[in-house]
Amino acid sequence: MNAPKTLLLTGAHPDDETLGVGATLAQYAAAGYKVYYICGTRGEVGEVAPEFMQGYASIADLRTYELKCAAEALGLADVIYLGYRDSGMAGMEDNKHPNALAAAPVEEVARRIVEIIRRLKPEVIITSDPIGGYGHPDHIAIHRATVMAFSAAGDPQKYPEYGPAFQPQKLYFHVFPFRFLKFMVKAMQFFGRDVHHMGRNKDIDLASFVEPEFPVHCVIRLKKKSLETRNRAVVCHASQTSGGAPRRGLFGMINRLFGHRDCYMRAEPPVKGRLHERDLFEGVK
Ligand SMILES: [Zn+2]
Repeated sequence: MNAPKTLLLTGAHPDDETLGVGATLAQYAAAGYKVYYICGTRGEVGEVAPEFMQGYASIADLRTYELKCAAEALGLADVIYLGYRDSGMAGMEDNKHPNALAAAPVEEVARRIVEIIRRLKPEVIITSDPIGGYGHPDHIAIHRATVMAFSAAGDPQKYPEYGPAFQPQKLYFHVFPFRFLKFMVKAMQFFGRDVHHMGRNKDIDLASFVEPEFPVHCVIRLKKKSLETRNRAVVCHASQTSGGAPRRGLFGMINRLFGHRDCYMRAEPPVKGRLHERDLFEGVK
């Protein structure tokens, strides 16, 4: 039997591995792939209700524990922390903290990711889209560093101290099905929802993140079992979610209609025209 292939996700916070791409990760892990998560921060700037803090010295401790729980549920091989600090949403004071991920030079973050890529040797890497999903500065920082690290890892001139060059074969950005989201935003505005201040912390401007459109090159059809596994991981992140996948309301509707697939744009190798992949490892040697 061939050695198992490796999938690497880079993200910014505990819960980015679950809420965006959790079912994809679960599906590949269940199929025998080694799946790793590089997490930029410990999510220390998220808001947490006091009842979740019992037994934890800090938000970072709590969210590290929640990610450990989610990683076990999803079947991840390991979680690697980069050790930066959550920058909070755009405009917050936390953006300027000396250890904030969003304030770190992109070359420095990329260098850390190169070291891990050369060690884990993933054939395929997934990261955020260029606008960080909904504009979170940490997601954008991880996106930029990962794009830089993808090519630097394969360049023997760069960082020889981290061992021989290793070039991953494919790089994907997780993207939302924008056409549908645009329709949803219009519908929500019609029903009087404030689409500029959505989410638990009222910090998600839904209107802004449906503006750009990224092409979808790969659609992963999620098995029922992968969705159930993802939902177990969502429960692990109890301090950030209301527990489980949304069933009711507009988000429940989005989930029912579109929750059975994850969409990706392929950044590397670049795509000319249309592409309809069904597997992130399609064509991988
Ligand atoms: Zn995040």
